[in-house]
Amino acid sequence: MKHEVFQFEKRVHLIGDEYVYVHIKEARIIEEASNKGDFIGQIDIVYPFAGYNLELTLDITMDKSSVEWEWDAGFRVPFSEEIITLSELYLEQQMILEYEKYETRNYEKCSCGGYMMPMYDEFPSWIHYCDTCDCRNENYDHSPLPY
Ligand SMILES: [Zn+2]
Repeated sequence: MKHEVFQFEKRVHLIGDEYVYVHIKEARIIEEASNKGDFIGQIDIVYPFAGYNLELTLDITMDKSSVEWEWDAGFRVPFSEEIITLSELYLEQQMILEYEKYETRNYEKCSCGGYMMPMYDEFPSWIHYCDTCDCRNENYDHSPLPY
């Protein structure tokens, strides 16, 4: 059995033209089946519903993907007709990792190994905080305050 840890938010289209952000946690894949309807494994998600965050475990089966003629391992969240495929999740996760690398490479490193992120987007040079520990750096030359 294979474990795939995802941990990101996915926007899912619901019936009735609504959208929901589902948190994709991790999948347990039993085997790489290839026939339609085959049971492949399970996936844990957090589904926000009526003000609650529901922890759900859904079955992953070989199903028709959004591309009509293709069969892929996927699952369907409640109140959605969309099949979310594993290949889609792998791709999205890859994109998020690439984006995070790109986002952080321009920031200074903290002594703890974290990145110093700007606290206010409007004043990116003023105060930086570490995204790992809680230390802060204020650059008084860039302060918008009159002192
Ligand atoms: Zn730090």
